[in-house]
Amino acid sequence: MFSSSRTLLPTIVLIGMLFSSTAAAVQSDWALESMPIDRSAEQLSVATLGHLDAARVLRDEILAVEGPRTPENTLLLLNELYMHIDAASSENGLFEEVHPDADMRAVAEEGSRSVSAFITELSLDRALYEALEGIELEGEDAATQFAVKKELRDYRRAGVDQPPEVQGRIAALNSEIVELGQEFSRNIKDDVRVMKLTDVSQLEGLPDDYIAAHPVQDDGAIHVSTTYPDYIPFMRYSTQPELRRQLYLEYNNRGYPRNVVVLESLIAKRDEKAKLLGYENWADYVTEDKMVGSEANAAAFIEQIAGVSREAAERDYQMLLDTKRQDVPDATGVADWEKGYYSEKVRAEQYDFDSQAARPYFDYERVRQGIFDVTSRLFGVRYEQVAGLDLWDEDVTAWDLFDGDEQIGRFFLDMHPRDNKYGHAAQFGYRSGVEGERLPVATLVCNFPNPKDSDDGVALMEFGQVSTFFHEFGHLLHTMFAGHRRWAMNSGISTEWDFVEAPSQMLEEWLYDAETLQSFAMHYETGEPIPEALIDKIRAAAEFGKGMNTAHQAFYAALSFNCYARDVEGLDTTELVQELQAKYSPFAYVDGSHFQCNFGHLNGYSAIYYTYKWSEVIAKDMFSRFAEDGVLNEETARLYREKVLEPGGSKPAAELVEDFLGREYGFESFRQWLDGSEADA
Ligand SMILES: [Zn+2]
Repeated sequence: MFSSSRTLLPTIVLIGMLFSSTAAAVQSDWALESMPIDRSAEQLSVATLGHLDAARVLRDEILAVEGPRTPENTLLLLNELYMHIDAASSENGLFEEVHPDADMRAVAEEGSRSVSAFITELSLDRALYEALEGIELEGEDAATQFAVKKELRDYRRAGVDQPPEVQGRIAALNSEIVELGQEFSRNIKDDVRVMKLTDVSQLEGLPDDYIAAHPVQDDGAIHVSTTYPDYIPFMRYSTQPELRRQLYLEYNNRGYPRNVVVLESLIAKRDEKAKLLGYENWADYVTEDKMVGSEANAAAFIEQIAGVSREAAERDYQMLLDTKRQDVPDATGVADWEKGYYSEKVRAEQYDFDSQAARPYFDYERVRQGIFDVTSRLFGVRYEQVAGLDLWDEDVTAWDLFDGDEQIGRFFLDMHPRDNKYGHAAQFGYRSGVEGERLPVATLVCNFPNPKDSDDGVALMEFGQVSTFFHEFGHLLHTMFAGHRRWAMNSGISTEWDFVEAPSQMLEEWLYDAETLQSFAMHYETGEPIPEALIDKIRAAAEFGKGMNTAHQAFYAALSFNCYARDVEGLDTTELVQELQAKYSPFAYVDGSHFQCNFGHLNGYSAIYYTYKWSEVIAKDMFSRFAEDGVLNEETARLYREKVLEPGGSKPAAELVEDFLGREYGFESFRQWLDGSEADA
């Protein structure tokens, strides 16, 4: 069944205009050549309706099957039906977040709501459920049996066996949840704030290229915005504490005040839905089908992460405070808005690492090519740019992925900021792959510096941005490799949600490998590879902050979880932020900030932000195999591709990991990483 959540889940295409509800038989052309990408808002809307009509026809065809039900006479039609839903869902889901044209974004939001309503209709369709239940599975392969079992469970979780009046309420709640979620995201995305500076001296401490990119505007002021490329360097390098505090408050008030009510309504609707379905609350409901398995396990895991990082977090915090006391001798604490600045100083003073020194080696184009090269080597694939496509923005590029002569997928890179675009980094499906039917297509959406913004085409990235690029590319490869299963419901990234961040977080590890780094990190002027000594410093400096960052992540996880693991009566999310930040994070709540209003994951991930750390624990364990065999060991990488990535959701994620490691995964690799005691890779 398709989840209506947008970011990571499936897929795409759009040939929908070919269909009409009067079509006697549905014909699908899923070839890449006929895949429409950019069109008018009206065409998008027509295409969405076409997909939904086609899906309805397929639903009727499934019900009309006579004689004993088999995977061939039922699941193949269901595949086709899901491909249509996926196409409509993914295209609208992408364009509502990235399309430069406001009409397109509005139509895409409308399309997402229609798709969502249709998914609700299907998920409550008793006749369809019984058709699936009637499939004779004896003698079928394990993946087919697993797919059907999982599917039936998803129908039950959606409410298919509830009485009509309950179903009616669930359907209404589902659409309200989608609308509130869209509003929540839109309020964040559209609320780009600008801090106006009156004099260039207020940019003291910032890199030259940053200063050059921030000239005085027509209104006589220098504008520093809350987008990543503006915000992150300012918080790290600006020597002006008061300006950093101001920008922090702007950043942490995006979406405020509107999103307070939106969020609290969203939480209440989810709570009501969970209770209607017989669960104690939304956290109880949403954890049930994850690896973690239950609300109690999720709570225990968050405590485990908080506990294991506490000491290291205190050490890190003390180092920041000691450093701050050089500037402010009687300082008694480090504020959340000072963390980036003093972390940079600690790295400079204690580890002799200056992140500015690394930037000249991370020019955007070289980094992109470097990621292509290292993943080509590891996984035996190659990339070819596709020219001549009409894409939604001139900065977007298209690429085909090949394994030998065989094409195995296509992706788009939408990598630079622009107005009204999704402000974080994520992979969006464009079309989920199904064996023999269509290739996987996906889009990476990021906000890295744009080569076009400088005269010489150079766009220097922060190490952290390079790491984000590797991370998102891990999602992309997962989608590409997994998008070749026979059944749509097993294909692509369809594993348990709390496993989804494991392949992406694991790919970040390659950035700490000297050979990998030196293969692409060349100085933008001299072409010299990044020096060994600088790599050592990067690695040493990366030891700093693990504890406090893990503790802060435990705070995010606890906030996400506790918004939903409680009675909503009397919930005040601002108070909850204050309470949990005090409990988990070394950094105190900053008065006047409203982080919950711009923590976008409270919509998409709802209660399960813990999944990042859960996946990271698994990622560290999977990487331990590479640490042993050699980070660039091609045999190990191919085994990983074959055992973990390619199977998609055709078996439980714990089994995929066990197939690769030859044992069950555990917590120990993560603990060693946190202590800095893991074997030097
Ligand atoms: Zn991710």
